[in-house]
Amino acid sequence: MLKKVLSKKGFRFGGLFCIIAISVSFLSCGEKAAADTGNVALPAALTDTGPLPRDTTPPVEVAPAPQRFTIIGVGDMMLGTNYPSASYLPPNGGRDLLAEVRGLLSSADITFGNLEGTILDKGGTAKRCNNPSACYVFRSPENYVQHFADAGFDFLSIANNHSGDFGAAGRERTKAKLKEAGIAFAGLAGTDEYAVVERDGVKYGMCAFAPNSGTSSILDLAKARQIVSKLAAECDIVLVSFHGGAEGASHQNVPRRSETYYGENRGDVYKFSHAVIDAGADIVFGHGPHVTRAMELYKGRLICYSLGNFCTYGRFSLNGPAGFAPIVSVTVGRDGAFQEGQVTPIYQQKAHGPKIDSQKRAIRTLIELTQADFPETELLITQEGKLTTKK
Ligand SMILES: [Zn+2]
Repeated sequence: MLKKVLSKKGFRFGGLFCIIAISVSFLSCGEKAAADTGNVALPAALTDTGPLPRDTTPPVEVAPAPQRFTIIGVGDMMLGTNYPSASYLPPNGGRDLLAEVRGLLSSADITFGNLEGTILDKGGTAKRCNNPSACYVFRSPENYVQHFADAGFDFLSIANNHSGDFGAAGRERTKAKLKEAGIAFAGLAGTDEYAVVERDGVKYGMCAFAPNSGTSSILDLAKARQIVSKLAAECDIVLVSFHGGAEGASHQNVPRRSETYYGENRGDVYKFSHAVIDAGADIVFGHGPHVTRAMELYKGRLICYSLGNFCTYGRFSLNGPAGFAPIVSVTVGRDGAFQEGQVTPIYQQKAHGPKIDSQKRAIRTLIELTQADFPETELLITQEGKLTTKK
């Protein structure tokens, strides 16, 4: 936590503290003067006989509010499951999983990720699967919530196919633990459709969508527009997350139509993303395919169609393109419009969490897919992962 306070919030809190300290000292001086003279009824101008000395003190300069804000997004996270057995948990209580990227994640004003599972020590009703051999349900120990807090996460999506793995008990405990840790979340229909957090006087709104039962539906565009426009009216910067699209290496392209996978309508992520930006969204972070997908700028707002597997321990395939992913850092103005960004490529292996990828596979993939799927976009991705506009 110390690192987060120093790197992320410390400077601006420090600045705020100075301003408050100056204000308080003025206030207390004023009070003190009145108290010392015992004259609290009449203003000085009426009691003094001579002219007042001119105040030559220069006015206190208040630094203008910063107009650039950095938001980091990552994809799927499941830090280990104690179900069906504790043997699926990582060593050292999971403390090492995010070690290599914790500093980067903590450095943003807002950090977002998809919580692909539940947070619950024991109990809950495990989801029954038609095919038990391919049944994956995830229940992370409750103290793992601290790993997200220590890495600086502000917003987590709980709209996905695993937030209901342990029924209502799992969802309630997950929400309670996130609240305790001070992490905002959204994505459940009717109860937790959006969250708002304020940082340094800037209001950020977040909402999250998926095709799964109980979640805010990625298929109901009218409702999605309604949630986003409400947030846009209330907040400076609106972040929308979706868990959608077909999965795997053969579904890395954005098809610009509805995608069906395992007999389930996984949404038209292109149409959805454009609809929420039309309604006032500023950044769209997609995930769900377990591989990286393209990015584009639409109306000057950044869409990431899939951020892939970011930190998925134990029960996830990390083969081929499922084993690497981008950390996307976006810099926006107070109006949420894209200014620039940076992609940091990571990779995972069975034994460890995300590590910086010297082969930069996620950057290469993003360049190729973006050129193939969105040749018209103004977004430029350099070989080093810098995001700018072509003009
Ligand atoms: Zn999923």
